[in-house]
Amino acid sequence: MSSNKGKELLAVDESSGSVVVPDQRQQQPRSLSRYESQKKRDWNTFCQYLRNQNPPLMLSQCNYNHVLEFLRYIDQFGKTKVHLYGCIYFGKPDPPAPCTCPMRQAWGSLDALIGRLRAAYEENGGSMESNPFANSNIRIFLREVKEGQARARGIQYKKKKRKIRDGNKAGEGIRSNRKQSTCSFRYFQNNKTKLQEGLF
Ligand SMILES: [Zn+2]
Repeated sequence: MSSNKGKELLAVDESSGSVVVPDQRQQQPRSLSRYESQKKRDWNTFCQYLRNQNPPLMLSQCNYNHVLEFLRYIDQFGKTKVHLYGCIYFGKPDPPAPCTCPMRQAWGSLDALIGRLRAAYEENGGSMESNPFANSNIRIFLREVKEGQARARGIQYKKKKRKIRDGNKAGEGIRSNRKQSTCSFRYFQNNKTKLQEGLF
């Protein structure tokens, strides 16, 4: 009986006789969740950014202005096309041709980033009262980015809903936007080596 159980677990491929491992991940120790590891990377990036300032900034000196500067700094690594006022595609969700408008960090990725850094700040000993990521000026900044990008890209950000109706154009916009956010941040992480070397 026990040998049958073993066979089930290893899922022997009858045709070839080779042993198929059902799920490789089960064999490895469970590492940090995606959110936790992303939060750790973001936090390291932010601390590195503070150290690269001239003169280097201590975390205790950090206020919401430094956070806003950091957000403007990482904007250059964005992968989301945000049309300028003069562009003929301003407010058009699916431009038929490329334009010269800049690539920016999508609002969704900035919003998620701030959420992770806000949590990391307190987990790393910062007090809730002095948390620069929780400052109302950051919330105002993010709201302006959200509204500006919604106008420029011709999309509406809706409140998070698990169920998105089929054929809901706005929902699709958010989903594709999310995909871009992940990529842009991965891109940013790849460039962190250069950041550490002080090339930026
Ligand atoms: Zn454009």
